[in-house]
Amino acid sequence: MAIPDTPHMSNNVTTPAPHSNPAPEARKSPQRIGLLGGTFDPPHLGHLVAADQVLHALGLDKVLLVPANQPWQKVDSRQITSAERRLEMTRVAVGGTDGLEVSDIELRLGGPSYTSVTIEALSKEFPNTEWLVIVGADAAMRLDTWHNTDKLRQQATIVVVNRPGSDFQPPTGWTWELVEIPSISISGTSLRRRVAIGNSIRFLTSAAVVEHIERWGLYREDA
Ligand code: ATP
Ligand code: MG
Repeated sequence: MAIPDTPHMSNNVTTPAPHSNPAPEARKSPQRIGLLGGTFDPPHLGHLVAADQVLHALGLDKVLLVPANQPWQKVDSRQITSAERRLEMTRVAVGGTDGLEVSDIELRLGGPSYTSVTIEALSKEFPNTEWLVIVGADAAMRLDTWHNTDKLRQQATIVVVNRPGSDFQPPTGWTWELVEIPSISISGTSLRRRVAIGNSIRFLTSAAVVEHIERWGLYREDA
């Protein structure tokens, strides 16, 4: 995909800190947390590389991987694996990786998952946080179809990562950044298909996820 030379660009203008003397409790600068939402059916190296690269490129405090309870834009088009199992697979995919965490917030909230509602709920668990929502170039093009976008524009910066098959288009009307990552031509769809026809998925996701899929017989044609 055609992306500019710089690995990191944005429309975010940094303004110098004001010269006032803030109250002691206001002096602490907010932590910066990335949020990578998705279906994670199953999680794979594309998700993990995106989360890790953004974590380091932007020097974030952490990145949360957030499996959707009900991915409302997908539920009519295919059978989705249960939210509990997708959460479990995301947990085993991340394991103890420094800086990456999995949140079950969307399962706890229940119902269809909307990032704007998720951020509102997460802000109670992580007060004083600046939110950065990470999306692949395919998802970036569909941002305007998301729920409550007026609010989400105020809540978060969008961090777009390149994804093979989708050209980068600046998300106009949003505060955004682009982080270039090594192109990973892997999708949940391709992994499900490979398992269904008996092809190997080793090294396309973490070994623990491969093992989980095998143990529970997920995505098999005869399942
Ligand atoms: P599916 O094929 O089932 O849609 P997926 O691989 O697209 O699965 P999702 O859970 O839909 O995975 O994606 C969650 C987020 O991760 C989206 O923002 C998507 O763009 C991003 N993403 C997924 N795979 C990659 C990848 N290989 N490179 C960059 N971003 C990715
Ligand atoms: Mg997808």
